Amino acid sequence: ILSSPANHHHSSLLPALTRAFSSTTPITATLFPGDGIGPEIAESVKQVFQAADVPIEWEEHYVGTEIDPRTQSFLTWESLESVRRNRVGLKGPMATPIGKGHRSLNLTLRKELNLYANVRPCYSLPGYKTRYDNVNLVTIRENTEGEYSGLEHQVVRGVVESLKIITRAASLRVAEYAFHYAKANGRERVSAIHKANIMQKTDGLFLKCCREVAEKYPEITYEEVIIDNCCMMLVKNPALFDVLVMPNLYGDIISDLCAGLVGGLGLTPSCNIGEGGIALAEAVHGSAPDIAGKACNMANPTALLLSSVMMLRHLNITDKAERIQNAIINTIAEGKYRTADLGGSSSTTEFTNAICDNL
Ligand code: NAD
Repeated sequence: ILSSPANHHHSSLLPALTRAFSSTTPITATLFPGDGIGPEIAESVKQVFQAADVPIEWEEHYVGTEIDPRTQSFLTWESLESVRRNRVGLKGPMATPIGKGHRSLNLTLRKELNLYANVRPCYSLPGYKTRYDNVNLVTIRENTEGEYSGLEHQVVRGVVESLKIITRAASLRVAEYAFHYAKANGRERVSAIHKANIMQKTDGLFLKCCREVAEKYPEITYEEVIIDNCCMMLVKNPALFDVLVMPNLYGDIISDLCAGLVGGLGLTPSCNIGEGGIALAEAVHGSAPDIAGKACNMANPTALLLSSVMMLRHLNITDKAERIQNAIINTIAEGKYRTADLGGSSSTTEFTNAICDNL
């Protein structure tokens, strides 16, 4: 059995905001199973939590079938209230129609709950071989503005415009989170990723804010890397990076690139951090419509399980978090039960059962 990975894989998201409570008091957390493979992998989390005797009671909310006028999306007001009340939750992927239709459910969540930072740790799993065995980085994505402002319109026929909004307030907030995270988790370097040579005003302001915050953290090395160069460096030598902070769209793309370095989207977790210590954990991947469906049972639940582990660390339920994380890592390392995305032939259920046996 493998020993657990180095400590900083385990660290809580933001210790200053962590709620203290005894690991035997049940606490209520919101669960959005989501669309596509969401319900299948959420089932896996519920099974593992039960087997590990995790003191969490789930308050489940399914994405609606009608648009709620208060949110302008399928995400109902009641679902949002549930996260506001519980302050912690786990969400499965939510599908968004491409190029038309209702407002993205993920955007609605981020905006309404002010989930300003998306934290995506990405590390090589011991025992699962990819081209690298030394990836150990965290991308921190600004989550509320940038290219995701939703401000798009047609200027004249044949010409459309999308507005990229960068504000000083949101940039300072995410930069502060990134440096705080680095310090709290024993990390040494923060790299701000940008394209300020072209996007001089927007990315320029983002960088200016990062520099201001960096001055308050002399113990952390600060650097700035242009995004195209960052992609090349990540593919060539991911060990060059530690904590990366960046505007919204860059974060979306870079974190998928990072997922590819360690074995794919089936493996990478994330957690959205909001004002006042709200934490909504979610897998990086989407609803995987190509493999979704009861008869399929092919989805890899690891990313959502590791996201639930991030949620537990946020809540300071460290013993259970560690136990579940080790069981996942050991199951993948043993190699007997792996899902198809990792080259195996196990179903979601068989893989989940194996994790439970390894707890
Ligand atoms: P996707 O992440 O759903 O799938 C990309 C590829 O990765 C597919 O081949 C899929 O089978 C595979 N994959 C993803 N997760 C997997 C898992 N757990 N196990 C095994 N294989 C897995 O991306 P997409 O196809 O571009 O998007 C599908 C839908 O999901 C879209 O509607 C999109 O808007 C939505 N989406 C939602 C979120 C979210 O809720 N946070 C994130 C990304 C995409």
